[in-house]
Amino acid sequence: MTILPNSLEARDAAFVLHPYTNASQHLQDGPLVISKGEGIYIIDSDGNKYIEGLGGLFCASLGFSEQRLVDAAMRQMQELPFYHSFGGKSHETAIELAEQLIRLAPVPMSKVFFANSGSEANDTALKLVWYYHNAIGKPEKKKVISRWRAYHGVTIASASLTGLPNNHRDFDLPIDGVLHTDCPEYYRYGLSGETEEEFATRCAASLEDLILAEGPATIGAFFAEPLMASGGCIVPPPTYYDKIQAVLRKYDILLIADEVICGFGRLGTMFGSESFGMQPDMISMAKQLSAAYQPISALMINEKVHAAIVAESEKIGTFGHGFTYSGHPVATAVALETLKIYEERDIVGHVQNVAPLFQRRLRALAEHPLVGNARGRGLIGTLELVRNKETKEPFNPANGVAIHAGKRAQAHGVVTRAMGDNYSLCPPLIITEAQINDMFDRSEKALDDTYTWAR
Ligand code: PLP
Repeated sequence: MTILPNSLEARDAAFVLHPYTNASQHLQDGPLVISKGEGIYIIDSDGNKYIEGLGGLFCASLGFSEQRLVDAAMRQMQELPFYHSFGGKSHETAIELAEQLIRLAPVPMSKVFFANSGSEANDTALKLVWYYHNAIGKPEKKKVISRWRAYHGVTIASASLTGLPNNHRDFDLPIDGVLHTDCPEYYRYGLSGETEEEFATRCAASLEDLILAEGPATIGAFFAEPLMASGGCIVPPPTYYDKIQAVLRKYDILLIADEVICGFGRLGTMFGSESFGMQPDMISMAKQLSAAYQPISALMINEKVHAAIVAESEKIGTFGHGFTYSGHPVATAVALETLKIYEERDIVGHVQNVAPLFQRRLRALAEHPLVGNARGRGLIGTLELVRNKETKEPFNPANGVAIHAGKRAQAHGVVTRAMGDNYSLCPPLIITEAQINDMFDRSEKALDDTYTWAR
C-alpha cells in the first residue's frame, strides 16, 4: 500500500511502536486505521466494514457499540473518576464487582484482587504462589510449571509462563524457576495409534516425571488456560484435567486457571474451568470481564491462599502489592454493567444456542485442501493450515501462510490474526447465526485464495 505523506498511516509508521507486529515491515506497510465500531463490525478510515472475527483480541464480547457500557463509564466519570484501593480505601463499584465475581466463581473463592491486564493478574498469581509458600513455611516450594504453547502474558513473569518461542527469544526469558511441560494438542503431539485419553494419560505422566525430576518439594504451582487460545485453540483431550489434577493433588501443587480468554461465556459456560472440571486455587481473568471497554483484570483467590496473606500481614504489617489503578472506579463500573448485561441477556445461553452452527461450519472446513485440523469449543475455533493434509507437514514458517490467509480474509471483510499457522476465529459473543454463516463464507474465500497462492 502507498502511504501518503502526513496521513494517519504515515504518522503511525513514524511514531508508534506496535505490539506483535513486524517492526521492519510496518515501516513500509503502515497500519490499518480503525475509526468506528458497530455491533460485531469495525470500520476503517476509508469506510470499509469488516466482521471482527477475533472479537478484537478475544475480548470485545458485546461488540463495539454497546451504549449501556458507555453510559456506565460516563456516570462513573461524573461521580468519582478515580480513587484507589490502597490502605483500606474502597468505593462502591469495586465492592459490588468483587461480590458478583465471587458469586459467579466456578469453585468457592474468597477474595478478588484487581489489576489492569491479564499479564498483571498472572504476575500477581505468581507472586502469590511465592508469598503463600513463604507464609506456610515451605519456602523451597517456589518453582512453577506451565505448558509449551501457553499464553499467559508479556510481563517478565507472565512472559516466562507463556510457552511460545517469540515471547522468550532475545528477551532473555524465561526467568529461573519457570518450567514448561507438554502441550495437550492431540493433532500434533498424539502418537499414531494412541487414543485421546491415552494421550491425556501420557501428558499427566510427563508432568509427574518433571515434578519428580525437579523434586516435588520444589514445585509450587501449575498454570493453565482451560482451553489454550493464543497457542492455537488447543482443546484438551477428554480426561486431561482429571489426570493432571490428580498429579497436582498428589504433590500438593496449587492450580491457577488463566481464564483471561475462556472466562465469561466463551466456551458456553461462565468459566472455562466448568467446561473441564478444573478446581483452581486462583483464577485470573480480564478481557471479557469488561467486554474490553475498559482495561481491567482480576485475580480470585481461595480462602487457603487468602489466609496465608492475612498471616503475612500480621507478621509484616501490610500486603505489599498493588497497582495505582487496582479496582479503578470507571473500569469496575463498566465491568459491573458488563456482568449485568451477560446475565440479563443470558449470554452463556446465547453462546450455547449459536455455538453448534459455529462448530459445524468450522469442522466442515476440515475438508478444505489447506486445512489439516479444525478444532474449537463454544465460540472459539481454529483451522490449522498445513502443506500436506496426509503427512501434516507444516508450511515453512518464513512463508507466513496464516498471515497471508489473514490478509485475504481482510480483503473479504473479516479481520482475524495469524497465530502460528492457525486461522482462528473468536467473534464477539453477540454474533447471530446469519453473521456466523457470513463470517465462514468469507473465510472460505480467503482460504481458497490462500490455497491458490500457496501452490
Ligand atoms: N492470559 C491469556 C490466556 C491471554 O490470552 C492473554 C492475552 O491474550 C493474557 C493472559 C495477557 O493479557 P494482557 O494482554 O491483558 O496482558
